[in-house]
Amino acid sequence: MEKIKMTTPLVEMDGDEMTRVLWQWIKEELLCPFVELNTEYYDLGLPNRDATGDQVTMDAALANKKYGVSVKCATITPNAQRMTEYDLHEMWKSPNGTIRAVLDGTVFRAPILLDCIKPVVKTWKKPITIARHAYGDVYKGTEFRIPGPGKAELVFTGADGTELRQTIYDFECAGVLQGTYNKDSSIASFARSCFNYALSTKQDLWFSTKDTISKKYDHTFKDIFAEIYEKEYKEQFEAAGIEYFYTLIDDAVARVVRSEGGFIWACKNYDGDVMSDMVSTAFGSLAMMTSVLVSPDGNYEYEAAHGTVTRHYYRYLKGESTSTNPMATIFAWTGALAKRGELDGNEALVKFAQTLEAACLDTLASGVMTKDLCGLAEGVETKPVDSLEFIRAIRANLEAKLA
Ligand code: NAD
Repeated sequence: MEKIKMTTPLVEMDGDEMTRVLWQWIKEELLCPFVELNTEYYDLGLPNRDATGDQVTMDAALANKKYGVSVKCATITPNAQRMTEYDLHEMWKSPNGTIRAVLDGTVFRAPILLDCIKPVVKTWKKPITIARHAYGDVYKGTEFRIPGPGKAELVFTGADGTELRQTIYDFECAGVLQGTYNKDSSIASFARSCFNYALSTKQDLWFSTKDTISKKYDHTFKDIFAEIYEKEYKEQFEAAGIEYFYTLIDDAVARVVRSEGGFIWACKNYDGDVMSDMVSTAFGSLAMMTSVLVSPDGNYEYEAAHGTVTRHYYRYLKGESTSTNPMATIFAWTGALAKRGELDGNEALVKFAQTLEAACLDTLASGVMTKDLCGLAEGVETKPVDSLEFIRAIRANLEAKLA
């Protein structure tokens, strides 16, 4: 069989630990035998980030901006313990943070659904994608404890010297105080990323905040979304037969739980943090969550939502076989290849990505799965396998489908 060709390079960002091992196996077993992989390779493994003074992360992010699509392996964000473990020169920043800052994107997370793993919420039939605004609010907040009685004020001094001042509270006792901010430009990028992603996946977009209580802060989010929708997206949404609607977050929660899924739920930073964990747990497993960073100008970065699965890696290093679930990492590849194919008008590549996803789902439906899923599956006799056995079972299904 002739291998599928790729016209434009896909930006490939390699990573760390167990996911780096899976990365290699996925390429060897599921991609290279079928596709003439045309990738521009960046090694974001921690040793190379350290050796290049983290320049490689910046280069990879810029390559993503140049070509439009990348696929990223999970990477270590160093902490004190990693400093010693890897003998690092510096405690390098999170690569995801660096890439997000360059692309100015929004992260969309969606679960991979299986018939044999029932969501905890019985009505959910289709995936719910959480779009989290990954900038500002409490994550960039300034806060302190108030030691005792006194007046707390909110003061803004404009570049021209004009002042806005308002009393927050006259403290009669000790307490706490917090200042948070966001920027119109970032909220607008968030809105455009959400509208673009809804169009590209043909799903309705819901957006919720607490604008009834937060009449300036949250209301600004609501207004910016509404304005951009009216001016730039309304016609495209109508043509695509999809809907944008805004609702109060309390109402959104109630509707989400009663829904059958199949939409994107855009959330402010903190809401998205909490709701994405709730949604992924209710759908089954972190190992089955996919993640894509979408920039407002149409760049895409695909990855698994989970980390480098350190515990399994240490066992792997001791020569033990591990049953790490490669599904989200495989789907990062298929997502990226399909998007590359779509942008290049390369139908064979899109078809291949879809076929590989179908082969993965068939393998799981037959009960062949990694151990993390065995405890969750119902109505199928499970056959626990290690990672490589699982990948080879997928390959057999893939070859049968392609033959
Ligand atoms: P993790 O996602 O690696 O693991 C969390 C838990 O889920 C563990 O119990 C793990 O065994 C389980 N798990 C996760 N993915 C699995 C899979 N595919 N198959 C089976 N079980 C799976 O997160 P962590 O332990 O908090 O972090 C480990 C490392 O990963 C850290 O160095 C962290 O910096 C990094 N990290 C990277 C990313 C990223 O690159 N996007 C995200 C999160 C964590």
